[in-house]
Amino acid sequence: MRGSLPEKFDIVVAGAGVAGAMIAKRLAASGYSVLLVDRKPERLLGKKVCGDAIGLHHFKNIGMEIHENFIRNRVRGVKIYSPNTRTVFSIQGDGVVLERERFGRFLIKSAVNSGAEVRTSTYATKPLVNGDSVIGVELFDLKRRHVYRVYARIVVDSTGAVATLRRRLPRKFWASEEVSIEDYNIAYREIRVLDSEIEEIDFMSIYLSNTIAPGGYWWIIPRSKYEINIGLGVQMREKYPNPKINFYRYIVTKSIFNRSRILHSGSALVPTRRPIAAPVANGFVAVGDAAMTANPIHGGGIGPAMMSALLASRAIEHALDEGDPSIENLWSYPLNYMRSYGAKQAALDIFRLFLQKLEDDDLNYGMEKRLITEEDVYIASTDGELRISTIDKAMRVLRGLTRPSLLFKLKLVAEYMYALKMHYYNYPSSPREFPRWYNKGENLLAKYLSKLYS
Ligand SMILES: Cc1cc2nc3c(=O)[nH]c(=O)nc-3n(C[C@H](O)[C@H](O)[C@H](O)COP(=O)(O)OP(=O)(O)OC[C@H]3O[C@@H](n4cnc5c(N)ncnc54)[C@H](O)[C@@H]3O)c2cc1C
Repeated sequence: MRGSLPEKFDIVVAGAGVAGAMIAKRLAASGYSVLLVDRKPERLLGKKVCGDAIGLHHFKNIGMEIHENFIRNRVRGVKIYSPNTRTVFSIQGDGVVLERERFGRFLIKSAVNSGAEVRTSTYATKPLVNGDSVIGVELFDLKRRHVYRVYARIVVDSTGAVATLRRRLPRKFWASEEVSIEDYNIAYREIRVLDSEIEEIDFMSIYLSNTIAPGGYWWIIPRSKYEINIGLGVQMREKYPNPKINFYRYIVTKSIFNRSRILHSGSALVPTRRPIAAPVANGFVAVGDAAMTANPIHGGGIGPAMMSALLASRAIEHALDEGDPSIENLWSYPLNYMRSYGAKQAALDIFRLFLQKLEDDDLNYGMEKRLITEEDVYIASTDGELRISTIDKAMRVLRGLTRPSLLFKLKLVAEYMYALKMHYYNYPSSPREFPRWYNKGENLLAKYLSKLYS
């Protein structure tokens, strides 16, 4: 309570990243009362430790035009280097490197212009729960150091990878699904100005190496002729190395960084798995990283975060128009998300679990012998499928003879990618059928993991 009466809004959105700002904007524009809070002070809004790269198809998918003002650089694709750097896959795809802070602030300003109220330096501590419903959120005013409550018909968790509210829901809520720490990468990244021109300004580079970046990769994303976004992410598995230490040990020692200057640096978490299976509850919705919507292979999460916000805002409007913010009325959000992106994400999670198990020798061998080809990687990234045609299969068996187990595992991966993708396409059309669907998916995954590790 700020004044004497408890405050009430139609929607309270916790977290003003791309997902939160977008959902707040859309709902405020539809005439609902919206409160958008963020723990950051005003001057830091819009900032995020990120690679800032996004495929143009993401904007097309959500029907948004990206203004030149928000584009720092344009890229034509990505080059993926094997650990020994002898094999390079060149994957084409038009994308941009965002002026991230400007873009983030623009989204928040659009929310304000549409009528949303924004409170900065405000930490969402926990959801307020009454029986089976979320009815509001407890907030901590970081400047005045006091705790108060606001009530809402729907609370949105868009707090990013920390998922503060979702994780604090009672266990009986499906949305509180626990996520293994191994399903995150921790990444350190810097923005640097180089002393000499970048060779290829229109290609991003991804370097695979389980020595330098176990369970992750390191990257260079060109921002201009002399400026780069460079970082290193590692899977948070047992005894994982500090990414900053590896960054300074293996990357910055390279000659291209001689006399370079740091403009910005920082670390952050990257979700790298399938989406939260039911990111909704009575009076509650989780979007973006809080719902684990990023791509499990490369961690690209800006596009899916915006997509989830768009689909969630439609479901929220429907629920509020019906006068009942129940899980049933919000269900179209996960249903549409799974069909538009979640199914592919689930398939890529199968691939990710395989990749994270490989040694550098396997990666070098697999890429050099083309057990996986550039085309396979392209199709996997667009369709979430690893297609191995009959002829290719025979050829690959010949090529792969010295490592038949690798080829066998690859076939297993292709099979389960398809199975899990189909499972997510068949997401239940109502919450009633969810427990059966969920258990089936968990069994599928358990079976895959036992075969993968055997
Ligand atoms: C190092 C790194 C590199 C990446 N590179 C790329 C890339 O090149 N391309 C790409 O597409 N994606 C990339 N990603 C992923 C991408 O940044 C995220 O997927 C995306 O920003 C998710 O948006 P979001 O709105 O869900 O969360 P966020 O952008 O994380 O926003 C969450 C907001 O919530 C606020 N918040 C957190 N907790 C609370 C709380 N309790 N109360 C109030 N406010 C709170 C935070 O201050 C923040 O403003 C990268 C991520 C990292 C870490």
